[in-house]
Amino acid sequence: MGNTKNLTTNENISELEYLLYQIKEPIVCVKCSEEFTNGLSDAASLQNYSRLDVGFTKRGLQIFCRRHELNVCHLNFNNQKIDADFRCLEKKK
Ligand SMILES: [Zn+2]
Repeated sequence: MGNTKNLTTNENISELEYLLYQIKEPIVCVKCSEEFTNGLSDAASLQNYSRLDVGFTKRGLQIFCRRHELNVCHLNFNNQKIDADFRCLEKKK
């Protein structure tokens, strides 16, 4: 389902900044968060410790913890068509 086609040259690159990392409030598994906070893992960060699956469902979009086999969050799209952008934008190194 991924779309990796090249951006067309007439698209203003600054309008596509939303394709870079923009997460301000990460969604985390409560159990992973507790374990990491209590020093029960060797992981350098909660992000490294987390093992989340993300995918579309009949209801909308689900975030599921593989480590604990628990629902983290299940968004309900209420049968609305959601605008989703699967393009990748890589920074030049
Ligand atoms: Zn977890």
